[in-house]
Amino acid sequence: MTLAAVEGQPRAVESLSAALRSGQLHHAYLFGGPEGVGKERTAEAFAQALLCLERPGEGCGSCAACSRVARRNHPDVTWLMPEAVAVERGLAGRSDFTGTPSRELKVEQVRALQERLSLRPLEAPRKLAIVVAAESLNTQAQNAFLKTLEEPPPDTVMVLLASAPDRLLPTIRSRCSKVHFGPLPTALVSERVAQARGLDASTAHMVAVMAAGSLGRALEMDVKGLARRAELIRRFEEVGSETRRLLRFAEEFGGSRQDAEDALAVLQLWTRDVALAKVGAEGLANTDLAELAREVAERTTEPALHRRSARIESALTAITTRNASPRLQLERLLVELMEER
Ligand SMILES: [Zn+2]
Repeated sequence: MTLAAVEGQPRAVESLSAALRSGQLHHAYLFGGPEGVGKERTAEAFAQALLCLERPGEGCGSCAACSRVARRNHPDVTWLMPEAVAVERGLAGRSDFTGTPSRELKVEQVRALQERLSLRPLEAPRKLAIVVAAESLNTQAQNAFLKTLEEPPPDTVMVLLASAPDRLLPTIRSRCSKVHFGPLPTALVSERVAQARGLDASTAHMVAVMAAGSLGRALEMDVKGLARRAELIRRFEEVGSETRRLLRFAEEFGGSRQDAEDALAVLQLWTRDVALAKVGAEGLANTDLAELAREVAERTTEPALHRRSARIESALTAITTRNASPRLQLERLLVELMEER
């Protein structure tokens, strides 16, 4: 995976490639942007470009140095991550730590890193430190890290990856060259998620829209609830003012907390689709229901759609935070919407 092969982040890749071409490297970079948009892959590709034996400054992805970077065992690249993340990734076992693996990056970890960075590189002309989830550095650890940024060891490049860079001290941020990562294009996420999970095109598109440009989130998302998406939406629109249908809908889709949450998430996106159809905009999440979205848009008003959206949101909040009955919340939502018609 070379820098040139990183998809969907042209600005970030270009700024790093420009630094590599000019040879004017900063000693620290802060990759900021949402979870699951390729910050870590880009850091890996950047490390390869810096250490590659075949195509220095670009990375070939296949020489001994590039392969070791990819396998996370290049002796001159130190990856730092919270213990809990290392356990989740199978890089460490729970028994490796005393007590519960921490979600924070601790000062001891920063000190160990500093010790390694104080030594000469073992193989490559320079050494790298890549800090995964840098926003989890606790205050003490951030203060310790700050010292390294203030007096960077020679031949060292540090890369901090953060999905919430504003949780880092301003003094840390100001000492890093910032590289911004935006959400990935929906079409790219949709294509990748369809491939990886074997989803049909319209479900993959829906997942991509719900994941808001994060491939990571799209790959992890529970898609069971989406399988009956089209049926759910059609039935929702057919409820009309028939109490019998209303009750059956709530019973069927509010069987469990998870079912109701999935259903409400689908209905929320559907409401957004209808609002888009109302103004003739593109970008529907439910591409296969465009016709129905237009029909519903014709018989409803924009304020009504806003209210619908707010009611769906409050039903969702009631279920997730107040432990309300999922079925009763769906019933209530439908009754309220019915009364508005
Ligand atoms: Zn290489």
